[in-house]
Amino acid sequence: MTDTPLKLFNSLTRQLEEFQPIHEGEARVYSCGPTVYNYQHIGNMRAYIFADTLGRVLQWKGYKLTHVINVTDVGHLTSDADEGEDKMEKMAARENKSAWDIAKFYQEDFERDLARLNVQPKQHPRATEYVEAMIAWGERIAEKHCYELDSGLYFDVSTVADYGRLARAVTDDGEGRIDTVEGKRNQADFAIWRKTPAGETRQMEWDSPWGKGAPGWHLECSVMGEALLGFPFDIHTGGIDHREIHHPNEIAQNQAYCCTNGLDDARNSGARIWMHNNFLVERSGKMSKSAGEFLRLQLLVDKGYHPLAYRLMCQQAHYRSELEFSWEGLQAALTRLKRMVTIVERLRQSVSVEPMLRAAKRDRNSFMEGLNPSIRELVDDFENFVSDDLSTPPALVALERAINVAGAGTAWSGDALFAAIYMNEVLGLSLATLTRTDLRIRPKDAQLTEAEIEAELQRRKEARAAKDFATSDAIRDSLAAKGVEVMDGDPLGWEWRL
Ligand code: AMP
Ligand code: ZN
Repeated sequence: MTDTPLKLFNSLTRQLEEFQPIHEGEARVYSCGPTVYNYQHIGNMRAYIFADTLGRVLQWKGYKLTHVINVTDVGHLTSDADEGEDKMEKMAARENKSAWDIAKFYQEDFERDLARLNVQPKQHPRATEYVEAMIAWGERIAEKHCYELDSGLYFDVSTVADYGRLARAVTDDGEGRIDTVEGKRNQADFAIWRKTPAGETRQMEWDSPWGKGAPGWHLECSVMGEALLGFPFDIHTGGIDHREIHHPNEIAQNQAYCCTNGLDDARNSGARIWMHNNFLVERSGKMSKSAGEFLRLQLLVDKGYHPLAYRLMCQQAHYRSELEFSWEGLQAALTRLKRMVTIVERLRQSVSVEPMLRAAKRDRNSFMEGLNPSIRELVDDFENFVSDDLSTPPALVALERAINVAGAGTAWSGDALFAAIYMNEVLGLSLATLTRTDLRIRPKDAQLTEAEIEAELQRRKEARAAKDFATSDAIRDSLAAKGVEVMDGDPLGWEWRL
């Protein structure tokens, strides 16, 4: 365990708090996962890059991490506030497939994206695997906290103390909520179980004491969190939108289930710390899944951007700040990553940091004492930054300083390279393995292959050597017309880019 205390912003108290594990030496984290009715957009992926960075910081600090990202394959309606149609059933009807096939397809795509973004493997329980447990949960809280209507079993939010504290919501006027379910006692009341309307069949439905139907969306996270991590667990994460409805409802269910009182003691909420990442925004609305083509990781790759450039782009902003997406911003992140990789890849050929990493993991403190003092200071700076509510923007600067020292070829280059790779364990940018060639991704619509470009450039070199500038310029122009920019004198040593 390292010495710098880890401070995290708890949305429940709106304060920075020191992380104190509930189970000695362990960190248990639950992150709300995707609804697998469609591809994930890169805004969704920001939520998991944030959660993964949190997990890596906890591991780096020596905690044994258990991390769950659930998969919602039933129950999420088109509005978070329990209105509209089930997202899965709606997509299944549109694509003329079964809801189960839709879920499988998009879960696999999601997991591929996680891997491409270097999100470490986590547990991905599916809601449909926990329906029985959800029914049992409903039975346990029904009498004291719920009431039945024709459309389902509803949770009465007035039966728990401090409902909505996480959102700082005014509940009596139902702020921000649509209320079309007749008979609800409070506007914020939400479904624990939604009955299949008489005369209809749903693809996904189960028998329950309240009739055939499907669980409400909020219930799954309470149930899976408790089943896999035990109450209270350490940290619950999600996007900032969940701070308003989904998480207050989860908390209310947890209070009801555990028979706990108010939220002055955060542990009564089911978790000790609730963390929320801010949104990735895009001006032209390309993030909205309902608006035709939207921004997916695959689109970035199709345009020639390595997924880790997007991971770096996210880390260039603090997770609690809104981040505006732009192609220029992504290009800048890619260039920054290339700069790091160019130096690190060269040094990796002569220095092996593996033994140092192993030694650091065995006994961090004595290993650090053996490092050159200026490098140790850089690692300490890095640790202070990430311990300050995951401040990745200055942490990246510390990483670059280590890389620059490593590249400068001093006597302590090896120490500096180790420091960079060690910091990379938190940032997850693959600096121990990534190559410049990996970063050179051919856009889908590129007209030339790499070999063709290299051959043209060789011809251009020969023309220049023979002082035949007309031919050399013609080759340059013809490449430009095919979308290849020749980069003479580029400090990174890249001769061309698409
Ligand atoms: P959903 O599949 O809609 O439940 O969203 C999955 C996760 O992505 C949740 O944690 C959301 O809060 C989060 N999220 C949704 N949109 C964005 C966005 N534009 N930027 C960052 N996170 C988002
Ligand atoms: Zn959730």
